[in-house]
Amino acid sequence: MKKNLKITFLGTGTSLGVPEIGCVCEVCTSTDMKNKRLRPSVLVESEEISILIDTTPDLRIQALKYKVNRINAILYTHQHADHIYGLDDIRRFNYLQKSSIPCYGNEKTIKVIMNSFSYILKNDKRFEYFLPKIDFHTINNKFHIGDIEIIPVEVLHGGLSILGFRIGNFAYLTDCNKIPESSRKFLYGLDVLVLDALRKKSHIAHFNLSEAVSEAGLISADRAFFTHISHDLEHNTINKQLPENIKLAYDGLVVEL
Ligand SMILES: [Zn+2]
Ligand SMILES: [Zn+2]
Ligand SMILES: [Zn+2]
Repeated sequence: MKKNLKITFLGTGTSLGVPEIGCVCEVCTSTDMKNKRLRPSVLVESEEISILIDTTPDLRIQALKYKVNRINAILYTHQHADHIYGLDDIRRFNYLQKSSIPCYGNEKTIKVIMNSFSYILKNDKRFEYFLPKIDFHTINNKFHIGDIEIIPVEVLHGGLSILGFRIGNFAYLTDCNKIPESSRKFLYGLDVLVLDALRKKSHIAHFNLSEAVSEAGLISADRAFFTHISHDLEHNTINKQLPENIKLAYDGLVVEL
């Protein structure tokens, strides 16, 4: 599949965002906009289709800031709070597009979202205009949204098996600390890889910076960008230390392929 894709980073921060509430460290007090990180999400656009990966608690702000005016589908990586709790903001897109929006995730993720947002599923006509309209789909294998092929890629996030996604020659692997051998076949020949890199110290559920650099080296995409970044990593300082084709992403970064 050869498609032109435009990737917009709507958020590149860890679950607390950067700055963290009440923190006075160098990164949290930095005036450089590249050190300000909303919760992690990307928008993937082709000419016809606009796909949102995860609905963060910052979704409304992200949509306003980066002029996201259309969402044809939502892909969920997993059920953690920093990846799902903006789902209610989908109401505006339902209104603008006059349609419900399909959401895709693995079985566990869809189950947790349906529990967390159980009011959405109440088919109560009285509240029709106040509820997000979502069609939930459980996915295991590759599928299509319009003419775009989506390949779910299983990665490990601590003890949890979650999904990354390959779309054309782009792959988005947030929240992971291990890529199973069985998933590597989906990661050959990438133009752009996005990978989790939380901080310098190791973590039980996320790659740290040095692990992310070696994983990116193994996957060997033309270019790699790191996301889900904490206040431990100052944008310019770290970017100067990274190889030429591997960089920290930042909110608002647009990558075309
Ligand atoms: Zn997360
Ligand atoms: Zn801080
Ligand atoms: Zn997570």
